[in-house]
Amino acid sequence: MSWGGNQQPGYSGYGTGAAFGQQQQPPQYGQRSQPYGSPQYGQQGYGSQPPPYQQQQAPPPYSSPQGYGGQQHNAGFGAPAPPPGISQELWGWFQAVDQDKSGQITPHELQRALMNGNWSPFNPETCRLMIGMFDTDKSGTIGIQEFAALWNYIQSWKGCFDRFDVDRSGTIDAGEFHTAIRTFGYNLSPQFADLVVRKFDRRGIRSINFDDFIQACVMLKTLTDKFRVKDKQQQGVVQISYEDFLEMVLDNTLINI
Ligand code: CA
Repeated sequence: MSWGGNQQPGYSGYGTGAAFGQQQQPPQYGQRSQPYGSPQYGQQGYGSQPPPYQQQQAPPPYSSPQGYGGQQHNAGFGAPAPPPGISQELWGWFQAVDQDKSGQITPHELQRALMNGNWSPFNPETCRLMIGMFDTDKSGTIGIQEFAALWNYIQSWKGCFDRFDVDRSGTIDAGEFHTAIRTFGYNLSPQFADLVVRKFDRRGIRSINFDDFIQACVMLKTLTDKFRVKDKQQQGVVQISYEDFLEMVLDNTLINI
């Protein structure tokens, strides 16, 4: 089994491990040592500074108009003060998302609150995936501190998504996805990028929404990490037993349940 088997012999690996998924951070270009790194990385000056799109003042387009927007104006009006370290704005958003006022956000509440740029709701898989990643106490829901981390994560992903949505269509097509994964350091072909986009394209438009982009990238990261453990020589090739292979795929599938 080969990962990126159609690449040049000099293939140098899977990627920078751009901090997807399990490390609970969005891609943070150039911050880590990059044994597998992509040449595109450092050149684009991505660095550790926050991307410019995070400086936008307006609420992100994936927020729900009836959820966040309306209530955000009222945040702080007669409401309890936010917990230490939490901004008033974030606190207001948390309370808007926490519709039953339980102090905890469920995957369902998160899904109701998040919108893609085209106003389609987030897919439930991505919501469960993200809740699972930030639910540090494994309660099945997230509290305000966990929400703060999750919120930063989504914001950074949105910035990432916007950056790679070169034609500003609001979705990522195969070409854009290929650029993205190459920039993350994954040495994968345009054909593979096309396959992923077709797999995650829910509307038959050969292009994927923001939520599916997150899910696709987390999947790529998770599977790559698993493969990498088996790839002792770090050459992009492993010998794998039948059962190990099934286990690897099954583990990845479980994150979607
Ligand atoms: Ca696009």
